[in-house]
Amino acid sequence: MIPYAKQDIDEHDIKEVVKTLKSDFLTQGPAIPRFENVVKKFCGAKYATAVSSGTAALHITCQALGLKKGDILWTSPITFVASANCGLYCGAKVDFVDIDPFTYNMSVDALEKKLVEAKKKKKLPKIVIPVHLAGQSCKMKAIFGLSKKYKFKIIEDASHAIGATYRKKTVGCGQFSHATIFSFHPVKIITTGEGGMVVCNDEKLHKKVERFRTHGITRDEKQMRGKSHGAWYYEQLELGYNYRMTDIQAALGASQMNRLEEFLSRRRFLAKRYDALLKNLPLVTPYQHSDTNSSWHLYIIRLKLDKIRKTHKQIFEELRKNGIGVNLHYIPVYLQPYYLDLGFKKGLCSEAERYYSEAISLPMYYGLKEGEQNAVIAALKKILK
Ligand SMILES: *Cc1c(COP(=O)(O)O)cnc(C)c1O
Repeated sequence: MIPYAKQDIDEHDIKEVVKTLKSDFLTQGPAIPRFENVVKKFCGAKYATAVSSGTAALHITCQALGLKKGDILWTSPITFVASANCGLYCGAKVDFVDIDPFTYNMSVDALEKKLVEAKKKKKLPKIVIPVHLAGQSCKMKAIFGLSKKYKFKIIEDASHAIGATYRKKTVGCGQFSHATIFSFHPVKIITTGEGGMVVCNDEKLHKKVERFRTHGITRDEKQMRGKSHGAWYYEQLELGYNYRMTDIQAALGASQMNRLEEFLSRRRFLAKRYDALLKNLPLVTPYQHSDTNSSWHLYIIRLKLDKIRKTHKQIFEELRKNGIGVNLHYIPVYLQPYYLDLGFKKGLCSEAERYYSEAISLPMYYGLKEGEQNAVIAALKKILK
C-alpha cells in the first residue's frame, strides 16, 4: 500500500538523536532551545515554545490568551478535532465557520456574516482559529481586519503549514495573528514523533505559554509574586500541565529543520506533477490563491460526481483495493458523535458537508517516488473511467 503520508528520517537525524541519548539531558536540556531557535528564526517570529504535541500547543495557547468558561471559540469544521477540542478543554463554547468552496479554508464571508449575527446576540468569539488546510494559508489579512473590528484573538493552526508563505512572508511570522501553532506528528511536514510548537511575538503571551508547558511554574524571580527563598525556589503561578517535549524529540526536530527546504521543494514538485497529470479527469485539483505558496502537507482532490457513475465511497474503496492509501481530511468536526451530543446538527455548514461528500486525499510525502505517483494516477484513471 502506498500510504497517504510518511515521515523521512535520514542518517543525520538518527545521529542527532543518538547523540542526545548519550548526553546528560533527555529532557529540559539544550536541544529544546536549539530547536525553538531554529523554528522561530525560520518563521521570523520573536518567541517559540516546543511542546509535546500540536494539541498541547493549541490548548495552552488558548489558555494563555485567557479563554475560559463562558467564552466562545470558533474554528473551521474541516480540520482535525484538536482545533476545536482545545476550546472545550478551557471550558469555552465552540462553534464552526463554514469553508470557502475554492480553498476549503475558513470562509472570510461566512466569518463576517457570523460575526455580524453574533454581535447582535452579544455572543462574539474570544478566539478564532483559522486552519491552513493542506498547507495553504487562510486569507489572514482579511481575518486580521475582522479581529480588530470584533475584538477577537487569532491562533493560526499551521499544523499543515510549516514552510508555507502568505503574501511573501513565512507562516508563523505573526503579521496577521496573535500566535501560530505547528504539529510535528509523523504525517506532517517535519516530525519529532509527537510534538508541537507555539510561536508568537508577544513576550507576555510567550512567558505564559512557557509556564503552562510546565505546571504553571516559574524559576524566574521577575515573574514571581513573592521573594525567592533561595536557589531551590520556584513558584506555581497558574494551573498548567506537563506538556514538555523531550530533548530526544527536539534533537530530531532541529535536524529535520535542516531538511525543510528540501522537503518543501519535493512536495511542491509532486503537487505540480499531480496538477498536470490529473488534468482531464472528472475531478477538481487544489485551487491555489495567488497570495499563498502552500507547503503541500496534503493533496486533496474533489470528485465531480455528476460526471462519474460511481459513488464517492466506491471510488475511495476501489483506490484502497488497488493499493493506494487514500484518506479523507476531514469529517466535519461537528458531525462527530461527541459534538452531536453537544447539540450540533447536520446541515450547520453546507459547504463543509458538500466538501466531505467529494474529497479524497491522495498520497503526498517527501519520499513518494514518481513511479508510485504514476501508479496513483493510473489507478484513478482506471477507476474513474
Ligand atoms: C495534526 C493536527 C493537529 C494536532 O496535532 P498533534 O500534534 O497530533 O496533536 C491539530 N490541527 C490540525 C489541523 C492537525 O492536522
